[in-house]
Amino acid sequence: RVNRTDFMSALDEVHPAFGVSEEELQQVIQNGIIHYDAVVDELLKSGQLFVEQVRSSTRTPLVSILLHGPPGSGKTALGASIAQASQYPFIKLISPDNMVGYSESAKVTAITKVFTDSYKSPLSVVVVDNIERLIDWTPMGARFSNAVLQTLLVLFSRRPPKGRRLLIIATSSLRPILTDLGLSETFDSEMRVPPISNLKALERVLREVELFPSGDERRRALRMLEDAGLGGSSQDQLGSKLQIGVKKLLSIIEMARQEPENVAERLAGALMGLGM
Ligand code: ATP
Ligand code: MG
Repeated sequence: RVNRTDFMSALDEVHPAFGVSEEELQQVIQNGIIHYDAVVDELLKSGQLFVEQVRSSTRTPLVSILLHGPPGSGKTALGASIAQASQYPFIKLISPDNMVGYSESAKVTAITKVFTDSYKSPLSVVVVDNIERLIDWTPMGARFSNAVLQTLLVLFSRRPPKGRRLLIIATSSLRPILTDLGLSETFDSEMRVPPISNLKALERVLREVELFPSGDERRRALRMLEDAGLGGSSQDQLGSKLQIGVKKLLSIIEMARQEPENVAERLAGALMGLGM
């Protein structure tokens, strides 16, 4: 007779102790990657170059990069995409979302375990998502978990054992505090993920998600935004008032979709209500 425990341990034997967390990664890239601007392809391309560097160079067994940018600009999705595209045998996401309710020491243990597991694989990529939330950063009084911070500092600079290679992709919306925390020196490279700040990019997103039944409808909505002054002058992108993370934009779009009449008006209203 096979009981449940036997069955579960049999499963454990089948699955390696470490491996690719397809589900976790899929979840954060749920909405896909929209190529709304050249910068998106540049970021993916840079990520791919680091992936190749770790794969092929014996001189750099440890490479760590930081994706930073305003909230909702797409850091997590981009980091996860780069990781997933690597096709390394070990791909793991460390996310504060999966550590809700963890004590400080439970967090330290969980984070350390991911890295320790990664050292067993010849090639690994670990996405360390949202550093400020991992360390429980509180702007008020500048408090944070020093235990988690120290763990990250150690793991970010620890060379994997001989013959093992590791790519670390970290994300943060609070680039400036990382310097104060002594974390920024640990990264080999930093890449900024900007918000959407021009109507051309906005249009690409709108087209991609097929919010409007026709191109005419879409253009009408964009003209409305332009007339409202959101586009800035085409010569001077700095004059643009549009600043919105793709995450927020997608959620506004889904809200607008709920009410098919006056989609353009609702979208314009929501975008302008952001206080840009
Ligand atoms: P937060 O600051 O809250 O952590 P974030 O910067 O990590 O946010 P994501 O959580 O990655 O942002 O959200 C971006 C969302 O937009 C995801 O649902 C992703 O699938 C979608 N998306 C569409 N196109 C892109 C793109 N070009 N880059 C990144 N994300 C994109
Ligand atoms: Mg994120």
